[in-house]
Amino acid sequence: MMQSHGYAGHSATTPLTPFSFERRDPKDKDVVVEILYSGVCHSDIHSVRNEWKNAVYPMVPGHEIVGRVTAVGKEVSRFKAGDTVGVGVIVDSCRTCPSCKNNEEQYCDNGATLTYGVKDKYGDVTYGGYSNNIVVDEHFVHSVKETKNLAGVAPLLCSGITTYSPLRHWKVGPGMKVGIVGLGGLGHMGLKFAHSFGAHVVQFTTSESKIEDAKQLGADEVVISKDPAAMRKQASSFDFILDTVSAPHNINALLQLLKRDATYAQVGLPDTPPTLFMGDLIFKRRNMSGSIIGGMKETQEMLDYCAVKGITADIEMIRMEQINEAFERVVKADVKYRFVIDMASLKK
Ligand code: NAP
Ligand code: ZN
Ligand code: ZN
Repeated sequence: MMQSHGYAGHSATTPLTPFSFERRDPKDKDVVVEILYSGVCHSDIHSVRNEWKNAVYPMVPGHEIVGRVTAVGKEVSRFKAGDTVGVGVIVDSCRTCPSCKNNEEQYCDNGATLTYGVKDKYGDVTYGGYSNNIVVDEHFVHSVKETKNLAGVAPLLCSGITTYSPLRHWKVGPGMKVGIVGLGGLGHMGLKFAHSFGAHVVQFTTSESKIEDAKQLGADEVVISKDPAAMRKQASSFDFILDTVSAPHNINALLQLLKRDATYAQVGLPDTPPTLFMGDLIFKRRNMSGSIIGGMKETQEMLDYCAVKGITADIEMIRMEQINEAFERVVKADVKYRFVIDMASLKK
């Protein structure tokens, strides 16, 4: 077994603390990655605090991983030692079901294996990126172009693909009016992508302090979602809205902003279900949908698109021991716009 160390949560209510553990020795198709940077996703907090009621402890969170390959199994064809790579939210899937065959491994009919907190096919619990290394089948490893800002690339592995995929799926582009709800880790990437794809983008936020940033990040308009008059001005005018909010909020007030037949896509996953007035769907034949990350092919496409366009996440770098403080700040929507852990801090 390979020795690893990182930070783990041991219960829903206690802080993350240093944790040593073992990972499998690399099998023929496995890539061993030394982790350089790990993004802090709100899903890590929902998971560690058992807000989704499926926590397995000890839990090493982290699914926005960038690192360097240190070894490969003998059947690995796409990577060699020294390569810069990324690992995201899933590390395995059945590879045979219709979803997997269609490059949509995230919707695997047999259940994709999450990067942390689940049992994998070997019977081991998966441990994520808040650690010094990881062992992953090469199918779930992505090639990352070398850049001085590798830390800003890490969040693309979840917040990037989670917003890129639905914006592509619903064909966001020129001539469309698109709303992004919530300016956090996911929201700021959704804003960058929707702007980059040529849409007219309206950022919805509850934080007045983020208005200027939203404009800098590409918003054509910014609406304070708590202001009913400002919301009414936008009624029935949107072709597509992407909701990235992590907590319960008024979805009906946002549904009313869609045109007839337009789509509301949910990626934020609050722990309690919303109360919805169905009239806001019925009277304009509006669609309510959702989306989870993206497939492996599309994740690579997104990383390549970002490399060409110079798109990275806006980050605040932290040391591993600052993680509990960072969690508190994410919950208060006080991060601009993603924390990334410098894994070199684990060594010291
Ligand atoms: P985040 O950085 O905390 O951003 C969430 C944003 O939502 C906040 O910055 C805030 O934006 C807004 N917000 C927070 N509380 C609110 C409230 N009570 N009412 C209205 N707005 C509120 O979180 P994240 O990492 O982007 O993740 C967002 C959600 O997506 C989480 O639930 C996460 O689990 C989920 N997620 C889903 C997927 C997927 O594949 N579907 C992938 C990753 C994450 P403003 O300050 O602008 O209002
Ligand atoms: Zn995530
Ligand atoms: Zn499958």
